[in-house]
Amino acid sequence: MKRDRKRLVFLLCIMILTGAMTACGSLGAPKDDGNYIASSPTGSGENPSPTILPAEDEMKGMDDEIEENDTDSQMMDMQKAEQAEESNQTTVEMGDIVDTSKQKYTYEEMKEDLEILAKKYPDRLTVNVLATTRDGNNVYEAVFGNQNATKHYIIHAGIHAREYMTSLLAMEQLEYYLEQEKTASYNGVSYETLFDDVAIHLVPMVNPDGIAISQFGLDGVHSEEIKSDIESWYNRDQANGVTTNTLETYMKRWKANANGVDLNRNFDYGFEEFVGSSNPGAEKYKGTYAACEPEAKALVDLTNRVSPVAAISYHATGSVIYWDYGQTGTLREDCLSLVEMIHQVTGYEIKYAASDKQDAAGYGDWAVMQKQIPSATVEIGTGACPLEISEFPSIWERNKQMWAALVSLYRE
Ligand SMILES: [Zn+2]
Repeated sequence: MKRDRKRLVFLLCIMILTGAMTACGSLGAPKDDGNYIASSPTGSGENPSPTILPAEDEMKGMDDEIEENDTDSQMMDMQKAEQAEESNQTTVEMGDIVDTSKQKYTYEEMKEDLEILAKKYPDRLTVNVLATTRDGNNVYEAVFGNQNATKHYIIHAGIHAREYMTSLLAMEQLEYYLEQEKTASYNGVSYETLFDDVAIHLVPMVNPDGIAISQFGLDGVHSEEIKSDIESWYNRDQANGVTTNTLETYMKRWKANANGVDLNRNFDYGFEEFVGSSNPGAEKYKGTYAACEPEAKALVDLTNRVSPVAAISYHATGSVIYWDYGQTGTLREDCLSLVEMIHQVTGYEIKYAASDKQDAAGYGDWAVMQKQIPSATVEIGTGACPLEISEFPSIWERNKQMWAALVSLYRE
């Protein structure tokens, strides 16, 4: 009884505190990831079924999707509070490096977070620079785990500018696995065992220049030359009827890098056949030759260097998985195992080339068809890009076990 009363008082305190923080406004909603729970894998059976929409970035907002999860999250808050009480310690320290409360997770914040994490976990995280972009930003590789491992995986995010929530997700995953490696488990196997002989090569923001354009428009750009290029590309696209948007919206919906090249059309499979746009601009321009862009070449070189067991590309939006490039035989079976695992974890719908044709010359096309690496493109979220931050908690719940499930799949 006494214990129950203590628990009630504790919960009341939490509720009052939560109310105060929310009322304070500047703090925003309390971070969902403030306390990580080593929960059971979220199989599709347990997940609330996502609203599956056509995987077009042009979809209009569906922001009310998240409302129905309110009761669940209150329950979770209570469970978290109980856990915190039982272990007689606050878990505020956990998962508080990557800030998932703001709409725009910037290149600068990511850079700082990588530095903090690398200092905090020097044995388990190494950060490398893979390339430098036109606007002078770096493409970072975060190597999680054992650098000399026998099994390597590549996960990349933020290759399409307006899909920048994927970078936030990738960084939150990195922090989560660093934080939880010693304590959590997946399907009864500890993370420590799962990641013992594994290196995850994470490229959390392949396209930092483009992301800055989508987030801040011309203010996000350092170089005057790039600013004037963007303005002239916009004026041309407007004159040609390619866009009817304002310059502000044109930049917010930017997908390309600062050279106006759509990086996920810059890979060497189906490159010649892909038509797209014939001019640099916000999207659909493939560039002059495959991997001509430093960001795309960085992924090509990384893939050739580490020969990954599998590779995952994070995109938005639509809550679907692309993987089918017409591959056959064992390669097709291997790819199917990978996407079925991703479907199990996330609940996202598996798409087939026969019914949903994708544009060619993406990283996935190249990795599967040229390098025979099982690979999947995971489209997070349901609204139009840039996704609203209100979608992040549900996206996080669907994707937090991804790394554990991925390495589980390839364990002997
Ligand atoms: Zn994309």
